[in-house]
Amino acid sequence: MSIQFKTINELSHMLKNKDISNKELIEETFSLIDTNTHLNAFVTLNKDASLLKAEELDKNPSSLALAGIPVAQKDLFCTKDLRTTCGSNMLSSFIPPYSATVIENLENAGCISVGKTNMDEFAMGSSNETSFYGNVQNPWGDKLVPGGSSGGSAAVVAAGIVPAASGTDTGGSIRQPASLCGISGLKPTYGRISRWGMIAFASSLDQAGPMARTAEDCALLLNEMCSHDHKDTTSLDEAIPDFTKDLNLPIKGLKIGLVKEFDLSKLDNEVVKVFEESKKQYESLGAEFIDISLPNISLSVPTYYVVAPAECSSNLSRFDGVKFGKRCDDPKDLEELYIKTRSEGFGDEVKRRILIGSYVLSAGFYDAYYKKAQQVRRLIKNDFDSAFKQIDVIMSPTTRGGAFEEGSKGDDPIQMYLEDLFTIPANLAGLPALSIPNGIVDNKPIGLQLIGNFLEESKLLQVAHNFQISTDWHKKTPNGDVKS
Ligand code: GLN
Repeated sequence: MSIQFKTINELSHMLKNKDISNKELIEETFSLIDTNTHLNAFVTLNKDASLLKAEELDKNPSSLALAGIPVAQKDLFCTKDLRTTCGSNMLSSFIPPYSATVIENLENAGCISVGKTNMDEFAMGSSNETSFYGNVQNPWGDKLVPGGSSGGSAAVVAAGIVPAASGTDTGGSIRQPASLCGISGLKPTYGRISRWGMIAFASSLDQAGPMARTAEDCALLLNEMCSHDHKDTTSLDEAIPDFTKDLNLPIKGLKIGLVKEFDLSKLDNEVVKVFEESKKQYESLGAEFIDISLPNISLSVPTYYVVAPAECSSNLSRFDGVKFGKRCDDPKDLEELYIKTRSEGFGDEVKRRILIGSYVLSAGFYDAYYKKAQQVRRLIKNDFDSAFKQIDVIMSPTTRGGAFEEGSKGDDPIQMYLEDLFTIPANLAGLPALSIPNGIVDNKPIGLQLIGNFLEESKLLQVAHNFQISTDWHKKTPNGDVKS
């Protein structure tokens, strides 16, 4: 029986029933990796250690929640003794001496980290075209981008190589690639998952999360990924529910907000049609739609592009040729060591962000840009707070359209930045949000975004799961429909 396109639940059953051994599952995973090298989705593989762990599980079966499940890890999470590049030349030889808390949590739940997935350099990008390790291809079509920055993670799940992958989302990097690759992906509430051992891009926005075929699998992963971690001062000390518990509760009477300021008339007709169909589906499940206003939401993208570069310029100052990763050859003095290492180690998009960030933080401009952006961010958060007094979740498209061609937005960073028009607001407000597949236009998947109130991941997953048990969009793959 093929393992391709199977969900976590299905693979767990196969392992329990002994339809497949742990070793066979990992061997088959690596043969799928070999037949899909054209996707360029992995930067580093972890084959020997994965096989060892599988053999160990065959000898000593485990009842852990994710026992034996192959998971691909975004190459932004530090993995002990396994190269971690963050998509950058700067870290091309970096082998961390420890693992990120979220990696430890997943591995302690029994999963097998089969490799590190390609990504936009330091998670800056929306198309996976900024990686030092080359573009990732979307399994839905030659030359189509998978989205970014967690494009490698999205591609390996969409190609059915693994049932699950980790991602991170600073402005949309889980949801946008999930949408473009036709899978499910969740960005939890800021602080739900420890950031310790995640290579920082913009610390007040970065959040790790699960990427999988279904909302149900995202819930299974989230159960294991969350923990309160004293090593991350922003980690939330909140009860962690069983995120699978409410999945099957009906959503009759649920109030879904539609944001007046999201002007869908500018989107492709077919994309709007897909969105309207999903509304009808939710109506048939008993949900009610309410128009809401988030008056400051149109300021989200400009606010993000002040706050995120500012934080990135500060976070990336640690890559100086002294402490981590790359060091240039033969510098004549310390200043040249810094300049040459950083000029050679960083790509163009990262340099652009560092320049913008240093500018908005500089003495003469701090008040006008950074401080102002932080004030606007608060207004955006307040808008969400008042909206959630009348509704349960907010619904919108995840992106303005399906996957685009490689190179098609390369010359225009603003067009690329607008890819995250619908996703960025949830990061600025720290709210949980997910994307699930809800249609196909021109043979390319389209995604539906649901944004929830603070710490209400369970409700979001329930709303998404209700959609998935009554529709088949999550069963569409580039190779045809999955049967079940
Ligand atoms: N595409 C956005 C950016 O380039 C978001 C990236 C992310 O979420 N990591 O900054």
